[in-house]
Amino acid sequence: MTSPSTQKIKIMGILLDRVDYDRALQKIERFLETGGPGVIVTPNAEIIMAARKNEKLKEAVNGADLCFPDGIGVVLAARIIGKSLYGRTAGFDLMTQMLDMAARRNLSVFLLGGKPGVAEEAAGSIKVKFPGIKIAGTHHGYFDENGEGQIIDMINKSGAHILLVAMGAPKQEIFMIKNRNKLHCSIAMGVGGSLDVLAGRVHRAPVFMQKAGLEWLYRLVTQPTRIKRMSVLPLFIIDVILDRLRQNKL
Ligand code: UDP
Repeated sequence: MTSPSTQKIKIMGILLDRVDYDRALQKIERFLETGGPGVIVTPNAEIIMAARKNEKLKEAVNGADLCFPDGIGVVLAARIIGKSLYGRTAGFDLMTQMLDMAARRNLSVFLLGGKPGVAEEAAGSIKVKFPGIKIAGTHHGYFDENGEGQIIDMINKSGAHILLVAMGAPKQEIFMIKNRNKLHCSIAMGVGGSLDVLAGRVHRAPVFMQKAGLEWLYRLVTQPTRIKRMSVLPLFIIDVILDRLRQNKL
């Protein structure tokens, strides 16, 4: 189930990078030298399950330059198939470490996604938390394919080094891969609902729950409408176990 490279692990058809936060950040920083955009995705179990039925999503996730595992489900899956993943690289934490690096280097960031107003509120909080960062621009994430060209022009004209795409899966992954040759930024990262968190509209689980691998439970309790989406988690683990059993028989 592992790819020939020891740096990658394959879980249900999705190739994941086996790195800790420091190494992940080093890899991300390299895109600033090589130009880009380097596309970064952080799939969780829900996205990996969705990719089974959505070929476009699967191609987009596997087409990304860096793919870090988000969520305890993926870490568990790695253990089941006998591979370690250095724990999860939570998308939100990776994004904040990247923003920290961007502040140190005085880089500029474009925020794309969320409901109207969210990206602007997130920008306000980024300016306070990460002084040194320039906000190149913001735009909400509710536009159709006809509007994409205009948005890409706006991002390119802003001169942003980093683009955060917060439109949820599969929209954000497909947007980044489809438009990677048109985008002039060095880094494009899919960050799901992270702008909602930065804007203070959604709260992350308390640290003790994050450390206990229970962030999913906090999300379920605070956003019960997610129950249908999250019901795939046990199915994901069962499928990984079945895959492993099949492998053992070969
Ligand atoms: N969103 C968007 N455009 C869309 C659909 C969703 O910008 O067409 C935003 C939505 O407002 C939310 C984010 O995408 O801010 C998705 O958040 P979700 O909690 O689903 O992502 P997760 O953190 O679970 O990956």
